[in-house]
Amino acid sequence: MQINSEEKKAVDIREIRERFPIFAQRENRDLIYLDSAATTQKPDSVIKAVSRYYREYNANTHRGTYRIAEKATVEYERARKTIARFIGAVSERQVVFVRGTTEAINTVAVGWGDRVLKADDEIIFSELEHHSNIVPWQMLAQRTGARIRLWEMDKEGRLHLDALRNLLSTRTRLLAIAHVSNALGTVNPIAEIVQLAHDNGTRVLVDGAQSVPHQQVDVTALGVDFFAFSGHKMLGPTGIGVLYAREELLDEMNPVQFGGDMIESVQVLTSTWNDLPWKFEGGTPNIAGAIGLGAAVEFLQEIGIDAIHRHETGLIRRAVEQLQALPGVRVFGPPGDRGPAVSFEITGIHPHDISTLLDQRGIAIRSGHHCAQLAMKKLEVPATARASFYLYNDESEIDRFVKAVSETRDYFAKWL
Ligand code: PMP
Repeated sequence: MQINSEEKKAVDIREIRERFPIFAQRENRDLIYLDSAATTQKPDSVIKAVSRYYREYNANTHRGTYRIAEKATVEYERARKTIARFIGAVSERQVVFVRGTTEAINTVAVGWGDRVLKADDEIIFSELEHHSNIVPWQMLAQRTGARIRLWEMDKEGRLHLDALRNLLSTRTRLLAIAHVSNALGTVNPIAEIVQLAHDNGTRVLVDGAQSVPHQQVDVTALGVDFFAFSGHKMLGPTGIGVLYAREELLDEMNPVQFGGDMIESVQVLTSTWNDLPWKFEGGTPNIAGAIGLGAAVEFLQEIGIDAIHRHETGLIRRAVEQLQALPGVRVFGPPGDRGPAVSFEITGIHPHDISTLLDQRGIAIRSGHHCAQLAMKKLEVPATARASFYLYNDESEIDRFVKAVSETRDYFAKWL
């Protein structure tokens, strides 16, 4: 039997960490960075790709006829092709560069939603969504008179397909759903969800901000209509991300930014739009960002996204098991498989105090509502502490983190 080389590949953390300059800084020697769900660190190859663009061939794309402008255009479009292949898009015409997940979702809400939705149509989103996948739909509902239906989660942060079946109606135009929850790590069965929605004639937008960085995603196999993700959560620069959509939907949608580059022709009173995907890329794009994101994808491919996923699965299991074993610590989120993020609390201690004390030991975690206030409300907490992992973390960091949580609990115990 032939073994796929990807299957055999293990992640060599030491070698990987050496490629992230931030960990080599003297001040960061003891840093344990456990906040990759918020944003990830950047490898040297990404920083160099961005810097090389500015140093060696900085020019605007698509317009210049001279050498460096052509090179800038080629590299920008090459990044798009790399990303399209990475997510299994049929064509790079389906990959629109935007600022990030938030802008991608807002683009769909305005460009598609305003055009398609009517009064009394329905939009479903889940209770575990990030605010970026809630508020654009609220605003769309206010503009069009459409109604919001909430897909509620259970107390462990799981969504049940039966509940979705009950919510879907002849009026449901759109279902907006996270692939992986940033607050609780819940992994949603997107292919099944898409099947249910499509059987009902409902379009599906998937927020892939927390999935694309960590697991193999094939947008074509999943059958999604719209898919959004951010470059900075997958080793790329900030200010760049992707809206993927099926081509007929992009054709049907209105652009939302009007100006240079998205234009085919301009008359006094009307104008026509450029081809896909440039129809949605009005103004000078984030050229360096796109090139940097292309380099980030190449880095992920070199290590192997399946190998990264396996490594993170080991880390999250270890973290959850150890935290659950600590008396006085409550772990939120579903049992079993989850993305590489764990939310928890220490009874009686505010999450901000936990993150502040951990910071004193060089451990960076996040505390707050994680832009998921609906989920926090269901859990009946104002906030949680959250640790999230990526390919550059290792087991020893998990162990030191859990030890620090345990010591933090003991430190506060005398006042409780
Ligand atoms: N959705 C999810 C699930 C997220 O984790 C985030 C970022 N925390 C966003 C949307 C928003 O991403 P961005 O800020 O990059 O637009």
